[in-house]
Amino acid sequence: MQLFTGRKVVLASMHGKEAVIAPLLKKELGIQLILNEQMNTDRFGTFSGEIDRTLSPMETLRQKCLEGMKLAKCELGIATEGSFGAHPFLLGLSAHEEIILLIDQKNELEFMAKCLVTETNFQGRELPDLHALMAFVDEVQFPNQGIILKDQSANFYQAYKDARTVDELRHQFETCQQTYGSVYAETDMRAMRNPTRMKVIQEVCEKLIEKMKVTCPTCQTPGFDVVEQVPGLPCSLCCMPTDSIRLERFACQKCQHSEEKPRKDHRTCEDPMFCSFCNP
Ligand SMILES: [Zn+2]
Ligand SMILES: [Zn+2]
Repeated sequence: MQLFTGRKVVLASMHGKEAVIAPLLKKELGIQLILNEQMNTDRFGTFSGEIDRTLSPMETLRQKCLEGMKLAKCELGIATEGSFGAHPFLLGLSAHEEIILLIDQKNELEFMAKCLVTETNFQGRELPDLHALMAFVDEVQFPNQGIILKDQSANFYQAYKDARTVDELRHQFETCQQTYGSVYAETDMRAMRNPTRMKVIQEVCEKLIEKMKVTCPTCQTPGFDVVEQVPGLPCSLCCMPTDSIRLERFACQKCQHSEEKPRKDHRTCEDPMFCSFCNP
């Protein structure tokens, strides 16, 4: 795309995400990805809990991008943010949501995409002994997937990270147990130690690029995207509106143009199961 070709974008991350993001931006948009050594994204919060995340994921992302752009004196910034926990509507399932944001300061544009997946290896538990440690190692496929050890799940004194071999991990386990009397293990959710998350980062980046490629039919500004999901999909039995999404409203970031489009899955009615009249 002409608006981006030949430009540089700074990745506000120290966690190796460039491995999947850089080739995609280069190939699809002609943007060259750069890193900034001074960037410390951990101060925006860490997965292992030393620093709590205080801002919403979206605001954290914006702050990260702006910080990276300032440090690198670059007019394009990109960052991703992952959240892990209980699935918002599928009971009993865990979920991983990854959000990606690209800010173009020069053209005053923002592009955002999200991925919500249930395939996550987010897990943690207390390990009573070395035998339990080895079981956890097998289960999460360490060292391909990183493991973080702590003296306890929350309010811990110390977190042991970056073990690369089973020997190193065993040593950390023994140190932690001797010092604190207990060991809690969890999967490392930082991108470079988590191949499952890395795959999702690639996916969300592909989604972002697809969104950037959709241009406004009136002024050709990239990122003609959904700004509102309008509920009211009619029930297939009684035709009354349900809470399910009926159509999506797309809008341009530059001009006033907006369009309502039907659902991408072409569904025009909802199962009576979700109807508050048929199934109150
Ligand atoms: Zn427009
Ligand atoms: Zn109904």
